[in-house]
Amino acid sequence: MLTVLESITLSTDFLEKKGIESPRMNAELLLAEILNCKRLDLYLAFDRPLVDKEIVKYREFISRRGKFEPLQYILGKVEFYGLEFKVNRSVLIPRQETEILIDTIKEGVNNSHPLKILDIGCGSGNISITLAKNLTNSTVLGIDISKEAIETALINMKNNDCEKNVEFNIADIMDVNFANSYSGFDIIVSNPPYVSESEYQNLQKEIINYEPPTAVTDGNDGYKFYRRISEVSAEILNPNGKLYFEAGAGQAEKIKTIMTDNGFTNIRFAKDYLGIDRVIHGEKL
Ligand code: GLN
Repeated sequence: MLTVLESITLSTDFLEKKGIESPRMNAELLLAEILNCKRLDLYLAFDRPLVDKEIVKYREFISRRGKFEPLQYILGKVEFYGLEFKVNRSVLIPRQETEILIDTIKEGVNNSHPLKILDIGCGSGNISITLAKNLTNSTVLGIDISKEAIETALINMKNNDCEKNVEFNIADIMDVNFANSYSGFDIIVSNPPYVSESEYQNLQKEIINYEPPTAVTDGNDGYKFYRRISEVSAEILNPNGKLYFEAGAGQAEKIKTIMTDNGFTNIRFAKDYLGIDRVIHGEKL
């Protein structure tokens, strides 16, 4: 019978041979999920034998990870800004650098004011829900073109108890009539698909083979959504309203030009942990 330690060691070797990064950590996190414990608790249970049911499940998880399925899809969840979000293959996996977007918005607004916030391309709802939990006087509307993404966002809204100030709708920002249906926002935020069509093929297998392509690439030059969202935001933001974007590495300057061309001023950048200009924001005149 296999013990916790033996199964971790075997799985680590397997994942390493397949070329998975941080194989031991992956092997541990997947087993911790099956045993319903914290990763570090495994170290107190190295000699515990696994029962057949656990071994079958663990084999399935390790085999999926060996095919480059992202860890978060196998676990079915991810932590973002201290909250738990359900994820599946219809939504982009929330990334750590997107937490900078939340920090920057929190620093820039006054929580005592009731603000109306729009999150364009909300995916799992991570940005909308985190803002609603942190800016408790505000109301947030998250929109996405994907019905499956909105279904996931609605589950995350319920799980995080924020039905009171969050709403999710299916909507297409590229729709020419978009600005007729929505208006009066104080803040617009978006982490749009910003990988260009030509760069898309060079991404990790985990992304290309598993994450929804429409959440990752714009199938264009990487700026299609920055252009469209800046144009729409200039129309539907209140005077002095603010627009916040997440940007891909090296994109901030060009996005600044797009925002300036659409009448935004006071443009600022915020850097991520690697020193990359990750957030760009400005104000409507
Ligand atoms: N809003 C989600 C996030 O920031 C999804 C973004 C997207 O699908 N491009 O993680």
